[in-house]
Amino acid sequence: MTTFADGTTTATSADYIALDERWSTHNYHPLPVVIAEAEGAWVTDVEGNRYLDFLSGYSALNFGHRHPQLVAAAKEQLDRVTLTSRAFHHDQLGRFCAELAQLTGTEMVLPMNSGAEAVESAIKIARKWAYRVKGIPDGESRIVVAASNFHGRTTTIVSFSTDETARADFGPFTPGFDVVPYGDAAALAAAITDRTAAVLVEPIQGEAGVIVPPQGYLAEARRLCDEAGALLIADEIQSGLCRTGPVLALDHEGVRADLYTLGKALGGGIVPVSAVVGRADVLGVLKPGEHGSTFGGNPLACAVGRAVIRLLSTGEFAERAATLGERLHQRLAGLLGHGVAGVRGRGLWAGVDIAPGGPSGREASEALKARGVLCKETHGSTLRIAPPLVISEADLDRGLDALVEVVTRS
Ligand SMILES: *Cc1c(COP(=O)(O)O)cnc(C)c1O
Repeated sequence: MTTFADGTTTATSADYIALDERWSTHNYHPLPVVIAEAEGAWVTDVEGNRYLDFLSGYSALNFGHRHPQLVAAAKEQLDRVTLTSRAFHHDQLGRFCAELAQLTGTEMVLPMNSGAEAVESAIKIARKWAYRVKGIPDGESRIVVAASNFHGRTTTIVSFSTDETARADFGPFTPGFDVVPYGDAAALAAAITDRTAAVLVEPIQGEAGVIVPPQGYLAEARRLCDEAGALLIADEIQSGLCRTGPVLALDHEGVRADLYTLGKALGGGIVPVSAVVGRADVLGVLKPGEHGSTFGGNPLACAVGRAVIRLLSTGEFAERAATLGERLHQRLAGLLGHGVAGVRGRGLWAGVDIAPGGPSGREASEALKARGVLCKETHGSTLRIAPPLVISEADLDRGLDALVEVVTRS
């Protein structure tokens, strides 16, 4: 029995769901599971049922739930100082930025909170760089983006979304973006002009269904940006921090971006932490008063972020993502033609297209839930699989066994 602040008492999942439905805006359509506790790759609902987490908060929980080292870092910082605002210095910020730059092989860090804020920040930086460094006439810079992108939910970011559900009724939209098909180097080449400040791209499109671009596309994007004197901005908010193996998904291609946006796993599943990292001469265009955030770079966020960086620095998670990812993709490939029409992805990350005639994505998610596995559909009939990188091989197999049952069921 639980007593809420308003005096009501309730106990079942249905009660909690009813409360959400009544008081929380309906901007999500969650699976009917009410999580009360979690540890590692496992969550427990209010009735005590246990589920394997095959989604990991869309990669925000790369280290699983409540990783002991991350929780310890957070607790230690809670007992010291949690917030100063950027009006003052504190003893975590510089070290967080230095360590993140070192981890990512970059020169400077702008700390923010949410992923969308990091993308917004990168857009502002690219525009200012275009006017002050590249010499584009004021107000005329453009940013090339890919169709089916997902970069967040702010008004400027949905301005260049091609997902009508994300965009409709939220205009007027921010101008200055050119949309080209993802993975099409010729279309990218045709869209870049002397007014192009930057190309903004996900190295692997997560929300779109874990879409991996053709080999060579990202290297060609790099070459085209160099040729045109434009910035390459990689949104690694979901693909980065060892989800696909290496720290950055671009590393697979040996390609360096000028700016990267990071988020999700950077907060260790504990607090929202995001950042723009990249070239010092580009991030350096920002001067005092021109950009900021009350909570960006706060001591608690930096302390947790530093603990995340320590975990990533060991190489253990890169190794796990690569090894477990190989197993994941090997098993998924075996499902092709057996209830599965397509599989994409890299590392411990996959988009699985359920074959026509099989369950809908939503039905499959619900059937998996009934078998003790939580994941979420995207775009109708695609399941997105992103277990925490701490998952054991046995648990990965257990989840995949459930997936086999669900997609091959007639
Ligand atoms: C999740 C995501 C974002 C937005 O992050 P929020 O923290 O939800 O604002 C941006 N880009 C990509 C690639 C993402 O996956």
